[in-house]
Amino acid sequence: MSTIEQNLQDVRAQITTAACNCGRSPEEVTLLAVSKTKPVTAIEEAIAAGQYAFGENYVQEGVDKIHYFADNAPTANLEWHFIGPLQSNKSRLVAENFAWCHTVDRLKVAQRLSAQRPPDMPALNVLIQVNISDEQSKSGIALAELPALAASINELPNLHLRGLMAIPAPETDYQRQLAVFEQMNQAFLTLKTSYPQMDTLSMGMTDDMAAAIAAGSTLVRIGTAIFGSRA
Ligand SMILES: *Cc1c(COP(=O)(O)O)cnc(C)c1O
Repeated sequence: MSTIEQNLQDVRAQITTAACNCGRSPEEVTLLAVSKTKPVTAIEEAIAAGQYAFGENYVQEGVDKIHYFADNAPTANLEWHFIGPLQSNKSRLVAENFAWCHTVDRLKVAQRLSAQRPPDMPALNVLIQVNISDEQSKSGIALAELPALAASINELPNLHLRGLMAIPAPETDYQRQLAVFEQMNQAFLTLKTSYPQMDTLSMGMTDDMAAAIAAGSTLVRIGTAIFGSRA
């Protein structure tokens, strides 16, 4: 068995354990394999092990991989998520190539994504990124700004508002991880009363996935535990 195949089995088992420990069904948690900086051969191994949803952080690298697999594995039915910081001058490539964008945090970028989404593609699934704990970071909006941005995005014709995403500041203590993720889940549940189509809470990475799942995550973004550490 390849290492990536073994790693995927281990990560799926960790998801199952974390979900069962808090009385959730493992099927409620989607595994997004974060393949940034990794070669297509690594992605091919993951596909062979049954993984189909992949997350990329850098627009051009992601687009190159999407084109590679469209040419070389057209029947694989892969689902590509853009999870990196998005500058408005790169929005067209995201709108034209990805199925999801997790990092919408400005109306201007959302408007561009909607305008640039090709009419023959389904609406782009978007998540609003919330800056939940890391005041230094320029990515994500404050919780207080969430209702207004959600209302505006919900009006855009070629976007489908699916939920929220967060990258909390690194924290090793489980209880403190949990406290931050629970704030996100609260914001998600509150917003969902206005937008019942919201079904995705993207939170949890290699080092905090158990706490994220305990707090209600529906999608964990896992890189290192699947593909190994990055250079
Ligand atoms: C790199 C990255 C991940 C994966 O992180 P790991 O710790 O390697 O699992 C998840 N989400 C985002 C936004 C990332 O940039």
